[in-house]
Amino acid sequence: MNAAVLTAWLTEFARLVSSHRDLLTELDSAIGDADHGSNLDRGMTAVLATLEKESPPTPAAVLKRTGMTLVSTVGGASGPLYGTAFLRMATAAGDDDTLDGPGFAKALRAALDGVVARGKAVAGDKTMYDALAPAVDALDAALADGQPFDEAIDAALRAAEQGREATTPMVARKGRASYLGERSAGHQDPGATSVTFLIAAAAATLSG
Ligand code: ADP
Ligand code: MG
Repeated sequence: MNAAVLTAWLTEFARLVSSHRDLLTELDSAIGDADHGSNLDRGMTAVLATLEKESPPTPAAVLKRTGMTLVSTVGGASGPLYGTAFLRMATAAGDDDTLDGPGFAKALRAALDGVVARGKAVAGDKTMYDALAPAVDALDAALADGQPFDEAIDAALRAAEQGREATTPMVARKGRASYLGERSAGHQDPGATSVTFLIAAAAATLSG
């Protein structure tokens, strides 16, 4: 995976965010402030513009510009969380011209660690962690099991989707939704939903 392939991944993520903007906003209106769709759509539109203008040469450079752009254009909780995730991925990617499957998995693990470092979420808090952590674990497990990357990333997507669905009955313990207490139960978490699009975009663009 070179810079162009990672740019294709982010382009597909931006497309999924844009086409599901109303869904993300609707989910955030139930347990937040109805801005998750517009926040991420604005951020990813800015990311695509930056990548097109600058054509960063390496995977790390693409990821770093993405993280920096998200931090500066997306407000709220999710801007710093997604921003930190991509900046940590950039560091993990190193200076090589390409990332292989295990290299991408290592970078995605670093992204998860960044989300935790910034937001202190643990499993069951009803956040993006609850979809991203199972995806990262499934990707690592499948690669360790000797599966090819395209199968491993599909397994990661299925784990993310299950994790996303599992947020519905949870009572939120982090972020804005936690202000609702028990009333946050019965709604799917917006951030777990958007991060599943990130993994879906990876499955669509990084295999083969
Ligand atoms: P805000 O809550 O500031 O309006 P967004 O609506 O853009 O920001 O994002 C909300 C999402 O951010 C939530 O659905 C949740 O998944 C995620 N989130 C909030 N706080 C945390 C946290 N501490 N750790 C991980 N994810 C979090
Ligand atoms: Mg919000």
